[in-house]
Amino acid sequence: MKKIEKAQLFLQNHLDVFQCPVCHSPFKEITDFQLSCQENHHFDLSKKGTLHFLLKPVQSDYTKEMLLSRQRIAHSGFWYPMLDEVFKQIKTTEGVHLDVGCGEGAHSHYLKTRGLNGLTIAFDISKEGIQLGAATYDDLFFLVADLAQSPFSEQSFDTIINILSPSNYKEFKRLLKPVGQVIKVVPGKNYLKELREVSGKDSREYSNTEVIRKFAEVFPDYTHIPVHYTHTLEDDEIRDFIQMTPLGWHAEWNENMKKQLKRITIDMVILVGQTSHW
Ligand SMILES: [Zn+2]
Repeated sequence: MKKIEKAQLFLQNHLDVFQCPVCHSPFKEITDFQLSCQENHHFDLSKKGTLHFLLKPVQSDYTKEMLLSRQRIAHSGFWYPMLDEVFKQIKTTEGVHLDVGCGEGAHSHYLKTRGLNGLTIAFDISKEGIQLGAATYDDLFFLVADLAQSPFSEQSFDTIINILSPSNYKEFKRLLKPVGQVIKVVPGKNYLKELREVSGKDSREYSNTEVIRKFAEVFPDYTHIPVHYTHTLEDDEIRDFIQMTPLGWHAEWNENMKKQLKRITIDMVILVGQTSHW
């Protein structure tokens, strides 16, 4: 089955998860690869089986080259210990999951291989990220959307996964089922510290205090799980690593600087909130 046909079948079976981002009414049908709402707003499936829900064009900093670097780093296992911990926190592995700000989708794809069953819908504001994701992975449903005008129906999701990406708690609240989870991953103070030190761009410790304070306000009973490990990059991965984050951009990288990026510190915090406590 072609990707576009598979996506149409997925939408036919799960139409109730989505709503029109223009008028917020339910979608009435998907036919001939076109989704239509009750007010006759239409959204076409792409050949790769993705949907594009942005109401206005959004300028994205993500280039294809940078996304490919990011993907190669992800596939090298850079994030796996953090993602293993995220997976352990997911209560309803058979449920409906939303990856908010999925980039090119590697994190959710890895969670699927670990046993995240059910449905996983992944979206990002970056069209380039979604195109690459849809071309790479078959186990996720991808769409381009803005969290501020999200195309999802209320109380549709068991789990919201939000890794290194902005949140909108009011929207999360609307989207989650009465018993649901938000799993948010934020940098810890020593996150990628070698990159910051060597690039000289920002050698201060990263502060997540404000982000955690906001999360705690929404989820007073939240769980806080620190994750700390180092990952050794192969020589040919160092270039990808520099490309993958804005911290590495625009710095002049010489061979000596690159050598200092052999072992990288991954220091992060996983925040888990439950809707049943709202
Ligand atoms: Zn509409």
